[in-house]
Amino acid sequence: MPCCPNTLWLEVHHIIFYADGGLTRPDNLITICSRCHKNAHEGRLIIQGNAPRGARFLNETGKDLREEWRLETAFWLDIWCGWRGTEQDRRHLRAQLSTA
Ligand SMILES: [Zn+2]
Repeated sequence: MPCCPNTLWLEVHHIIFYADGGLTRPDNLITICSRCHKNAHEGRLIIQGNAPRGARFLNETGKDLREEWRLETAFWLDIWCGWRGTEQDRRHLRAQLSTA
């Protein structure tokens, strides 16, 4: 799960919910932490696609969390590296342009 730091208390989640007929097969199972699992079942985290490489993670408004995480990382890299360049060479701007 992008942007989740938890590596303990992991649980197996059915991407298509078991209650909705989702099968217990590797392409429908993903390992996430207990907090993300709760968010998925309460509608705050939407997981779509096939595990492991085709899974998409969206927030409740439909934003792709992997992209959000990439943009946030680029923003903090600019700060952490003490960026002193022009607007055009900011990591955050390049990350934004690559998703447009
Ligand atoms: Zn998590």
